[in-house]
Amino acid sequence: MTAKIINGTEIAENIKNYVKEKVSDFEKTYNKKPGLAVIMVGSNQASKVYVGIKQKTAKEAGINLMQFNLPKETNHKELIELIKKLNEDEKVHGILIQLPLPEQLDEQRILEKIKFRKDVDGFHSRNMGKLVFGRKEIVPCTPKGIIKLIESTGQEIEGKHAVVVGRSNIVGKPIAMLLLEKNATVTICHSKTKDLKKHTKDADILVVAAGKPKLITKDMVKKDAIVIDVGINRTDDGTEKGKLVGDVDFDSVKEVAGFISPVPGGVGPMTVASLLLKTFYAARHAEEKKEKSKE
Ligand code: NDP
Repeated sequence: MTAKIINGTEIAENIKNYVKEKVSDFEKTYNKKPGLAVIMVGSNQASKVYVGIKQKTAKEAGINLMQFNLPKETNHKELIELIKKLNEDEKVHGILIQLPLPEQLDEQRILEKIKFRKDVDGFHSRNMGKLVFGRKEIVPCTPKGIIKLIESTGQEIEGKHAVVVGRSNIVGKPIAMLLLEKNATVTICHSKTKDLKKHTKDADILVVAAGKPKLITKDMVKKDAIVIDVGINRTDDGTEKGKLVGDVDFDSVKEVAGFISPVPGGVGPMTVASLLLKTFYAARHAEEKKEKSKE
């Protein structure tokens, strides 16, 4: 039996259509669109591609994405000044800094300057802290999308052994927290983990976010497991763009897993869909608050 493929593109499309409907009602009520400011510093090729995808998808959903391109020499003061301006701008409901930033900029120092209510990426320490305390408000986009993919399988999360490979602040740690909140028993693996296979082989739910092409092979996966591949790696296949592959050896792993998300077409589209959803929520929250303060 081969695994059922988790179709992230289709699930993300449904979310986008949901946001589109909600945005249309929002516009009728408040006579404005939800506004998302995206700041890109420098001209990292991958960042350009990701921002282009966000721009296109936001437009389709009716969200006004405002792009700010700053030169790669931008310093802390200049970037923070722009963030402060956007924090006060009533047309801007969400602010996203496209990562990675150039070396001279301290990412966390910059992220802390975003008003936590406009931090649609969920990387502000206040949003991260709330996630750890189980009082989450704004959750990072990729982990939020991953949970939706797991839920789409119809399988219970509670009581399952979930293994997360990777412990970054943007994927590994927050997805581990979300799985814990859903009552999974969670193991986090990283580059210093001894005998990775021993852990992954015991996973009912395996989330892989290591950035290592084909790190997970068939022999490392439990029969019928749910496998979510977060990795995006460009391999040299002789073409200019290269071929996109995940961290999981899809062709072999699908022979043992129960469910598997592909790359591309799995987690990637869900990250963008989560961003749209959170921008809409941020806009609705801001406008409702303003209305209340007038009462
Ligand atoms: P990071 O490089 O920040 O983190 C990678 C993590 O994987 C680290 O914790 C590292 O361990 C661990 N790791 C690396 N090699 C191994 C190994 N051989 N065995 C076990 N653990 C290992 O990456 P990100 O979390 O930012 O991203 C991970 C992948 O997901 C990338 O391919 C990225 O492109 C992709 N991604 C995809 C998104 C999407 O929307 N689909 C969104 C965000 C990321 P240690 O901490 O010890 O160094």
